[in-house]
Amino acid sequence: MQQANWQAELRKTKIDPATLLEDIGLAQNAPVLANQAAISFPLRVTDGFKNRIISGEVSDPLLRQILPLADEDLDQPDFSYDPLAEYAKQPVPGLLHKYYGRALLVVTGACAIHCRYCFRRHFPYAESNPASQQWQTALDYLARDQTISEIILSGGDPLTASDERLTGLVKSLAEIPHIKRLRIHTRIPVVLPGRIVDPLLDWLTGTRLKPVMVVHANHANELDHSVAVAMEKLKSAHVPLLNQSVLLRGVNDSVTALAKLSERLFEYGILPYYLHMLDPVKGAAHFAVDESQARAIMQGLSELLPGYLVPKLVREIPGKPGKTLL
Ligand SMILES: *Cc1c(COP(=O)(O)O)cnc(C)c1O
Ligand code: SF4
Repeated sequence: MQQANWQAELRKTKIDPATLLEDIGLAQNAPVLANQAAISFPLRVTDGFKNRIISGEVSDPLLRQILPLADEDLDQPDFSYDPLAEYAKQPVPGLLHKYYGRALLVVTGACAIHCRYCFRRHFPYAESNPASQQWQTALDYLARDQTISEIILSGGDPLTASDERLTGLVKSLAEIPHIKRLRIHTRIPVVLPGRIVDPLLDWLTGTRLKPVMVVHANHANELDHSVAVAMEKLKSAHVPLLNQSVLLRGVNDSVTALAKLSERLFEYGILPYYLHMLDPVKGAAHFAVDESQARAIMQGLSELLPGYLVPKLVREIPGKPGKTLL
């Protein structure tokens, strides 16, 4: 029953930009929209997230994350289709093994929301997607490499997959003796909190693997009561909760916005983990914040907040053995 509900919600996330603008009272005051970019990476948003957009507010920080603006179609010389050189980093399709001890499995290419700044917006999911029958290849690779102690389920958003598929996958992962931790990278507890159902908690906590979940929110307005309820369920199941954000111009590029986000996260039982510098992906240049401004914001944050509420500012540099701390 619960399952049917979230799956039905997921099926109606694709929405026409004009309809969205009308729904949030911006039909008269509409910004110029993208043409090309909106075709290859269409607007997608859940009702829950849409309801948290402030009506009639053209510069709303949530709206900016999902609306395909004309800026995306502009030529952006330093912004590429594969900024992290990930295509070449797959030992088997859909498995990224860049860092010591952790491997990241692209469970699915699907997401409940399309974030315009996403570094995987051009990722060739069709070729890299290890559909169920192909998971075996990834599992064989993981079983062979005894240095891997943590598996990260990512995507797309791994929680768009059914609990039936995820149960089977996690059971197989738990059979690999050197894997200790099961990490989930997901935006779904924030954008589709109704997805946090009992069958999900069962596979997440039902094996010997120690779970940890890294959610993704960029602005305090993303976190409303429905999100608090989902987080409460995860906390009751003893799942440690962390958050990663991307530093985004016009969304959270101020000390005030990020301090508010950290405070709200803690209220909901989540600790800030990473604040990522934007990856230079084609179509996202209008979100870029330069490094000196980023450092100044971090300085301001650390003067305002306890140390444990200050996220680590990082950049991903292709070829490095981990994220680079700034
Ligand atoms: C970011 C990332 C990880 C996780 O890095 P942590 O610093 O452990 O959070 C693992 N694999 C890939 C490919 C990544 O991009
Ligand atoms: S992978 Fe994450 S950041 Fe990218 S579009 Fe999906 S939910 Fe957004």
